[in-house]
Amino acid sequence: MKTEYLSHQEYFKKRANIIEDVKNMKIDLTYQQGTNYVCPNTRKKESGITNAYVINICKPMEKGIDRKTALYHELSHLMWDSFVPNLNGLARAWAEDFISRQPQLDNLCDVTRNKLKENIVGEYRINFNVIEDQRIESLTKNVWLGTGVMFDKTRDKLGIRLVDDLISRKELTNTKTSKPKAPCDNLLMARFNQPDHSENWSKEIMEDVNESDFNGSLVALVRARKYIDKYMEDNLKDFQDKHKESMKHHIEYEKAQEAFYNPDTNDLEKEAYEETKQTEFRKYSKLKEEQEEQHSKFKSSAKRASHYSHDHDSLSSEEFEDSTQSEIDEHEEETNELVAQASELEEKSEEELKVLSREHKEDGKQEVVDMKATIEAVGKVGNMLPSHIKMIDRQSFTNAKIDHKTATILSKTFQKMAEQYVDNLDDTGSEVDIDSYIMNKIKGINDPCLVSEKLGQGATVLVSIDGSGSMGHSGDLDRARDLLATLYKASEKVKNIKLIANVWSSNYAGDVGVTIINSADDLDKIGDDDSYMFTPTHEALIFSAKQLRGQDGRKKLMIMITDGVPQYYKNNYEIPNGTLHKMTKTALKKSLRISPRIMCIDITNHWKYSELLRDIFGKRLISVDDMDSASKFVIKQFRNMVSEVMR
Ligand SMILES: [Zn+2]
Repeated sequence: MKTEYLSHQEYFKKRANIIEDVKNMKIDLTYQQGTNYVCPNTRKKESGITNAYVINICKPMEKGIDRKTALYHELSHLMWDSFVPNLNGLARAWAEDFISRQPQLDNLCDVTRNKLKENIVGEYRINFNVIEDQRIESLTKNVWLGTGVMFDKTRDKLGIRLVDDLISRKELTNTKTSKPKAPCDNLLMARFNQPDHSENWSKEIMEDVNESDFNGSLVALVRARKYIDKYMEDNLKDFQDKHKESMKHHIEYEKAQEAFYNPDTNDLEKEAYEETKQTEFRKYSKLKEEQEEQHSKFKSSAKRASHYSHDHDSLSSEEFEDSTQSEIDEHEEETNELVAQASELEEKSEEELKVLSREHKEDGKQEVVDMKATIEAVGKVGNMLPSHIKMIDRQSFTNAKIDHKTATILSKTFQKMAEQYVDNLDDTGSEVDIDSYIMNKIKGINDPCLVSEKLGQGATVLVSIDGSGSMGHSGDLDRARDLLATLYKASEKVKNIKLIANVWSSNYAGDVGVTIINSADDLDKIGDDDSYMFTPTHEALIFSAKQLRGQDGRKKLMIMITDGVPQYYKNNYEIPNGTLHKMTKTALKKSLRISPRIMCIDITNHWKYSELLRDIFGKRLISVDDMDSASKFVIKQFRNMVSEVMR
């Protein structure tokens, strides 16, 4: 999607709006310093709105991640179902289990144990985050096709950055195939297109989680667990509970302190106690420091990786303060289920897990299909439009009159063209559908493979109708409706030609009221609207070009019908003719870039107006006497388009 017509923030808002509609949630966008992130909107929750989120797109942008890619990434977290909300519960259960399996971690004091547990949870979580980031991007790219390249470019950049980063931290050597020790780094390397710097297991896991549903992430995490556990085990081999030791010295220190202040203690004794105090405190502080060091060494990989895969912890529903008891119970139940599901998976062999991964990819495909359908269903064309373009309901109070004679003649012509087209195929067999030809060879069947490639390409004709006051009063709007009715009738049986239309006009505020006609059923929407009486030709051009761009088919033609020169008010102020004239010329240039075949039929029937329009549209302008002549012209163009597609 090009954004020339929308500011960045407006564009971002429109994208977020789509997900708001699809997922029935509220999304606020902020542009603050720091990092890109998505988190629940607690302020909204206070006022009773659940399902509200904030996405921050950081300004200035994060190194290597442009803002648009960042937005798509964060939106992806909201688009796709995930078990992030229960991840912490699972990670805690695993951490508990891990510690109990390490003999050297027996008898830890509570403080050390809790701290260690927290760090182990962090280690599981960072690995999961990397996996989940990969999965959601791979799904989104199948819905919004342009995002695939965007994500990939960003991953390339981050890969280069991470390699440098790891070399400087001595986690990688300068050799080409050097691999980092930490599993999360390996997964990141696989994700960031650095296959030489990642172990095979991590590449496989990343490959398998691509395009899978959320259960695929769980399988991936279970598969990664043994590498994570092994890594943590190595890391904790020499781990000692220095906190426990330090506390012994602290007790000695306190004892000396107490004795020191005892009134029975004499000066000589005091001196001795003072020395004990100092030695014990030194020992205590040293051990305490060493303990800190052990912890921070252990969690350094997770901390490092979190710069490349932001923590999604805020999406986990851990804050129970204002949750009801039943919500808490439900959450606990879900967590237990997840833990059970994970341990079931752990019983399975690597081969079985791979099979499961493939199944979850199939489920992921279905999710994509569903997501696309939902977006299409809720996404009216208005979604990607600037806010001053309003979709309005117009109404006409008479029935459209089909010119049956013309419709019949046209329809017969189209049928003839179609027959000739098929004959042509049989004769020459030149239009072989290569794909189906090969498939037939493989399957050993003899399905006809002369599939009409040309027909498949199809065409769309858009008639863009000036809906300003004069068009309504003169009855020309009704005549335009009759024209479309006739064309719809004539092309009923023509498959690859799509006929669409729009009616447009603007009000004093500068809002452009647009009504979209997608089929004959919409014809009764072609009417005028008293509050929208002006002629925003410049806006209509760009809108129509965009509407046309969104259509199927390779060939596209826009025919605009207008009975006046551009006239536009903004905030009750009339844009001077000269300015508007220039704006319209610019708009035409822009529109031609979006959709190169544009014609304008001028039914002003006034030489002065025609001259003005000619200056804007050049040889794209056709001046005729009235709407009836315009209809004839459109019919001719339509017929040409059909024959062009059939030829
Ligand atoms: Zn993320």
